[in-house]
Amino acid sequence: MTDQYPVKLLIGTDYPIIEKIRCAERLFHIYGMELLSDKEFQSLFNTYRKAIQRSWLQAEMIGLVAECTDCAINDGGSCCGKGIEDRFDVILLLINLLMGCSLPKSPWDETGCWFLGERGCMIPARHVICVNYICKRLYSSLEKNGLRLLQGKVVSETNAGFACEESIKKWLRNKGL
Ligand code: SF4
Ligand code: SF4
Repeated sequence: MTDQYPVKLLIGTDYPIIEKIRCAERLFHIYGMELLSDKEFQSLFNTYRKAIQRSWLQAEMIGLVAECTDCAINDGGSCCGKGIEDRFDVILLLINLLMGCSLPKSPWDETGCWFLGERGCMIPARHVICVNYICKRLYSSLEKNGLRLLQGKVVSETNAGFACEESIKKWLRNKGL
């Protein structure tokens, strides 16, 4: 089946986001099912999903999600600025598709990140710069021990994400891409 649909993998981040999204969608269309049923990948993928969930739970518990949602709705979510989407590569976009998330074809807010929606970030697998970012508002309003616990979970998330990305790259290389 794969030979019928050749695809050129855009390597790196130096392409317009819409081209990277199209490439990720093409890869998802061609290889998504096969990749999701690969035992080695499945295990890394599940670890990553769980790590993301744990970070979110912790972020919710300490009030970070509420704070950021309020900021996004009432203050424009100033940390999610236009251009951050350019840090994403095709593999990370593909992971979001594999997680069941569709990627927008245009930004909701022209001045914001491509993945910013009305209520904040719309994608589960975010770039390391997104998951690591704690702004002054959060530092001053959230309890420090909760933030420390969150940082531990964020490290697990980014490590799991990295392992997942590397696994996909290897998998695609084995397909000749
Ligand atoms: S990290 Fe800070 S600037 Fe960004 S959405 Fe949250 S509160 Fe707002
Ligand atoms: S990917 Fe999400 S968290 Fe990162 S800058 Fe864009 S909207 Fe914000």
